[in-house]
Amino acid sequence: GYRSRAAYKLKQLDDLENVISGSDTVVDLGAAPGGWLEVAAERVGPQGQVVGVDLQRIKDLEVGGGTDRVETIRGDMTEQRTRDRVTDAAGGAVDVVISDMAPNMSGEYSLDQARSLHLARQAFETALDLLDSGGNFVAKVFEGPDVDAFRADLEDEFQYVRATAPDASRESSSELYLVAKGRLTTALRPGD
Ligand code: SAM
Repeated sequence: GYRSRAAYKLKQLDDLENVISGSDTVVDLGAAPGGWLEVAAERVGPQGQVVGVDLQRIKDLEVGGGTDRVETIRGDMTEQRTRDRVTDAAGGAVDVVISDMAPNMSGEYSLDQARSLHLARQAFETALDLLDSGGNFVAKVFEGPDVDAFRADLEDEFQYVRATAPDASRESSSELYLVAKGRLTTALRPGD
């Protein structure tokens, strides 16, 4: 088994959307306790690399194949210094950025939803910094009126964007994963 039920959401999502390929470099944001890391490590295989980040400490993973392909960082992704550490750990172009980051729940939906979207936008900024052309991005958001604008921003940067709610997450009906595939060129655009 995996160390979190969330692992099954990523499996389902990746089976459906083919986000992760063998030998990819994957950055996993909000990775604790590490279920997505386990799934990502399986899917990138022995030639791949996975970097996981969380506010919480992530216990070391035992990955089959005998290679050290998972690295974890404890830090806050809303801080530049954490983003810099992630960039260093990835050591070059990244193929996939996945984010399951979620705020501590206050119980007030509009507040939790706004915080969730803020984290998803942070993940998007990180994806734009790190992703190679053709790279893929996944982010969890709680449903709300401003998600459409976020989705439109993703559509400007990726070939294909869709929203999906994996069966494995249906118990919390407000949870949505935005899947963006095929980062458009990383070359400078007007205005950059
Ligand atoms: N995908 C994980 C798994 O499979 O084990 C579960 C992730 S859990 C739903 C959400 C995580 O986001 C929490 O562990 C939380 O600490 C993390 N998180 C929230 N805000 C964060 C931030 N600003 N920086 C880094 N991690 C954050």
